[in-house]
Amino acid sequence: MSEKLMDDIVSLAKRRGFIFPSSEIYGGLGSVYDYGPLGVALKNNIRRAWWTAIVQQRDDIVGLDSAILMNSKVWEASGHLKGFTDPLVDCKSCKRRFRADHLLEASAMTMPGMKEKPIEISHIRCPECGGELTDIRQFNLMFKTHMGPVEDESSVAYLRPETAQGIFVNFSNIVQTSRKKIPFGIAQAGKSFRNEITPGNFIFRTREFEQMEMEFFVKPGTDDEWFEYWKNFMMDWFTGLGVRREKLRFYEHPKEKLSHYSKRTVDLEYEFPWGWGELWGCANRTDFDLKQHAQHSGQDLSYRDETTGEKYVPYVIEPALGLDRALLTFLLDAYEVIEGGRTTTTESNKEQETVLRFHPSIAPVTVAILPLNKKEPLMKIAQEIRGVLNKRWAVAYDDTGSIGRRYRRQDEIGTPYCITVDFDSINDHAVTIRVRDTMKQERVAIDQVAGFIAGKV
Ligand SMILES: [Zn+2]
Repeated sequence: MSEKLMDDIVSLAKRRGFIFPSSEIYGGLGSVYDYGPLGVALKNNIRRAWWTAIVQQRDDIVGLDSAILMNSKVWEASGHLKGFTDPLVDCKSCKRRFRADHLLEASAMTMPGMKEKPIEISHIRCPECGGELTDIRQFNLMFKTHMGPVEDESSVAYLRPETAQGIFVNFSNIVQTSRKKIPFGIAQAGKSFRNEITPGNFIFRTREFEQMEMEFFVKPGTDDEWFEYWKNFMMDWFTGLGVRREKLRFYEHPKEKLSHYSKRTVDLEYEFPWGWGELWGCANRTDFDLKQHAQHSGQDLSYRDETTGEKYVPYVIEPALGLDRALLTFLLDAYEVIEGGRTTTTESNKEQETVLRFHPSIAPVTVAILPLNKKEPLMKIAQEIRGVLNKRWAVAYDDTGSIGRRYRRQDEIGTPYCITVDFDSINDHAVTIRVRDTMKQERVAIDQVAGFIAGKV
């Protein structure tokens, strides 16, 4: 069932132009995807909803867009050069590469009694061909390149593996220019890159992905309180955009498994078709990053409280969300198949119908305009309505096929409102607005339509 659900989502995403495999005409590129017309609209809307809630509607958070390429010393200071690695083994016969920790976990599970005493990697054979495996090597997950014409050690550059470091190295710039007082935050959305050994589950884990991160700087001692605040914010944001509460839960990372910089980490998890998976991580990064950068750069990155004169290095609470993963969550959570259909008035009532129940503020198309025919008086009215609505929302225009079919095309891409222009519209200057979720139809005066939509989105 769950495997079928993923197959259905991947197929719908391809068929309706949400997500395509990258460079598909050349056979694709492992776990890299392109967002089509509806995918990019959905992605932009999710990013905007996040930005609105976290920057625009708040006094205490500002935005940033730092470069993907950064001075390599950043990654030395942050610990990524040394510590951002996965343990790898190669098969000596078929040359396939595996995560050693995954192989060890898998073998401990399949061999009864081995749980307490995990077997050595030398006792494990290649799961694909049974060949002998190499010793474990640490493999750095950062993509490496060279800047400028010379390829030597001094020209090495990395594609950033997280957006957070761009925020930390700009801390002083922002304190000086924005006049923000602690507690305050810096948010940024942008691409990050990790050379994952085992990407997968569609857009859940990819090597190129977009992050939406926010670093919230607080006075040490107030960090536990702020952690609770941001943890709850994450849950409220997703449920506020219509994701079912019962598909979300918190996962508290056990103390002994925390990253070296973290005092506490809690993930907001979603129940994906393959099981619970991390959606939005909240970490108390303490003063680790600012202290590391202060030490490596020789710059003073402490904060001075102007009223008390107190000087300290702030603690950081970081809610970090993957945009692609958020998009997959909204797609899965909105997806519903109605066997036998839900339309009772057309010939289609025995067919299977697909509905994406996107929240109106993230739906890739907000409103579809459907004139009953393609001819003059109706077409003119329909296009005039389009000209008014498309100044504020994404509008689709569809004048082919039966109205029932057109409704279903819009249901399948999650359009919350359809406007039908019919022959009565010529005389009563009104249209029928059909609501996706209730299928209720309402007659609304043409000059009231924009107000009607604005009241719902
Ligand atoms: Zn092999």
